[in-house]
Amino acid sequence: MTYKLSFDEFASILEKTPVTIAWNPWLKVKLGKSIVTFSSPLEFRLAVNRLQPMADKPTVIFVDQNETMASNYAFLPAVQCTYDPFRDPDFESLLVQHFHELCSMPRVFKQSKVPDYFVESVESSQPTIAVFVVVDGLSFTDFPFTDFPRDSVLPCLVDGVSVTTEGMRRLVGNPHIAERLFKRGFWKRAGFSYWDRHNELADQLFYTFTEGQLKKVEGFDQVLEWFDMKHLKERTYVQIVRTGLDGYSHNHRDRPPKEHLLSAIKKDIVNLVDKLRKIALPFVLFVTADHGILWNYNFPSNTVFMDEGAVPVRYYREKENIPERLRQLGVWHPGNNVFSLPVSHYRRRLKNTEWGCHGGVSVAESFVPLLRVFG
Ligand SMILES: [Zn+2]
Repeated sequence: MTYKLSFDEFASILEKTPVTIAWNPWLKVKLGKSIVTFSSPLEFRLAVNRLQPMADKPTVIFVDQNETMASNYAFLPAVQCTYDPFRDPDFESLLVQHFHELCSMPRVFKQSKVPDYFVESVESSQPTIAVFVVVDGLSFTDFPFTDFPRDSVLPCLVDGVSVTTEGMRRLVGNPHIAERLFKRGFWKRAGFSYWDRHNELADQLFYTFTEGQLKKVEGFDQVLEWFDMKHLKERTYVQIVRTGLDGYSHNHRDRPPKEHLLSAIKKDIVNLVDKLRKIALPFVLFVTADHGILWNYNFPSNTVFMDEGAVPVRYYREKENIPERLRQLGVWHPGNNVFSLPVSHYRRRLKNTEWGCHGGVSVAESFVPLLRVFG
């Protein structure tokens, strides 16, 4: 029998007995160093049988998600914990403290691995149509879940600086998803972008797409219409870059109508799924974002503004410019040569046309949705 416990109930049972629980990276970080953790029952058994007695500390034995409990561990209670990091205010600081550790933990979905997840999904499900949608600026915590089965939407950690260029590059990967799929028989391609081809980033995002394969669109309806017109029979890779909340957060005269924008994104995705189902060919659809947005009304009450002038709000590109007192507070991304600030610190105040920011490490900026639909 497995008991379902809140985090507090879980913490209190640990005072009485070691327990076994399915591996959960968020819980591992939440438990911290005051708890002894084992990554398998075998590791625990070896520790218990050592001549040196085990330290008398709360003990958790993580087991594989699918591992059935062997009968010789039946004396240990097996529990489930309902801990949700996205509802825990403490997770904000845990994320910064354990950022690199989380990036390397199993079962943490990472942005830099999204191209691998996508190509692996295509390999295992062998669809005719493979669709990859990137929304420019959308937080996991803002993603409208309704209409999608809960387990089809995963939190995906932006494992680097949370800005557009770097996020987009991580998402298409190197070699580009289009090239990887080409080798797997997806010779036909269609790309849709709200940006002009001559935008340097658009060129990189649609690398190897020919002039005729990339279409600049003014609205998502044009993307949906394309699915109506085409008689898709051969394997086709479709890549769509849709505007999200990024532009609105940086420059808007009035407070952006966030809820309206979110429901428009949801409607487009629901319509896309319907369209794919109607075509009645096997498909794989991934929807994700380059980074999330930290909105100004979510700044904590003890926010520190450093008033450094016209600089990015949330990060430093030059290591030598990072103030000494901040070096231990934020996250250094060696792959990007960028230092990201935590939710408590900002290099400057937002202008009156700015409503949010990104580039730092926070739950809002560093977790994007990863929606996977198979049909
Ligand atoms: Zn962006």
